[in-house]
Amino acid sequence: MRKRPLGQNFLIDLNIAHSIIQSANIQPGEPVVEIGPGKGVLTQLLLHQTDSLTAIELDPRLAKDLQNRFGNNPSFKLIEGDAAKFDYASLGTGLNIVSNLPYYAATHIMKKLIHYRNQIRSMTLMLQKEVVDRLTASPGQKEYGSLSVYVQYYCEIERLLEIPNTAFSPKPKIDSSLIGLAPLPQPRVEVENPKLFFKLVHSAFFHKRKMLKNNLKEWTHLFNQENGQSRLAGIDLNRRGETLSLEDFADLANHVHALTAP
Ligand code: SAM
Repeated sequence: MRKRPLGQNFLIDLNIAHSIIQSANIQPGEPVVEIGPGKGVLTQLLLHQTDSLTAIELDPRLAKDLQNRFGNNPSFKLIEGDAAKFDYASLGTGLNIVSNLPYYAATHIMKKLIHYRNQIRSMTLMLQKEVVDRLTASPGQKEYGSLSVYVQYYCEIERLLEIPNTAFSPKPKIDSSLIGLAPLPQPRVEVENPKLFFKLVHSAFFHKRKMLKNNLKEWTHLFNQENGQSRLAGIDLNRRGETLSLEDFADLANHVHALTAP
């Protein structure tokens, strides 16, 4: 028996499959990478769009069937392996990623892809609706958190399609959404020290209901007191992390960096 179900909910709605491929907007000659091709519903359509399709499938049984079905097509290359551990740089640049991601590893694989953003032109990804709500959230919305900041820092994000759970077999408990991610040529905000920026972001959201002055205790010695209020980089620390924009987080991080850099 398999220890983990591998998120195998297969798309059975062909209209939706066509819409996904259309949304991916692949230009002639561009390479495509499909993560988790499964039973090949998107694979067969993608092979009409590109002459270079690399499909990465973890399940050996599915990989064997895919190889039998598409192996004779010179445009098709199958990699049996874990998409979360794959070295995407080995495939060159200008990659278009298309995937109905397995739920259990969706954010993990998406973060891995963002790590390889210099290799990637576009990502057309299907994820749990609830995760997409977090990715697209703006400051002040309850879904806004460190994942929103992470993805919006590196990518342009577009919500493309809502997909009901009835489009899959077996039917998952939740609905899905399709997004387009395009890596930005430069991160959305100018940050001197990205490691410090993300450390501050994670701390700011650590206890979501707490005020910044309580979540940012590590930097208490840098706080200013103005009229009995704590501030850092001019930001009122009675606010909660969820009210801060990417620009606010960049101001905080650049200010802390300037005060602490050796
Ligand atoms: N693309 C197919 C479709 O739309 O019907 C299948 C999608 S299904 C949600 C996810 C697929 O990803 C499954 O085929 C599963 O075996 C595969 N998979 C799960 N974890 C994986 C991983 N870490 N790396 C590569 N493939 C994975």
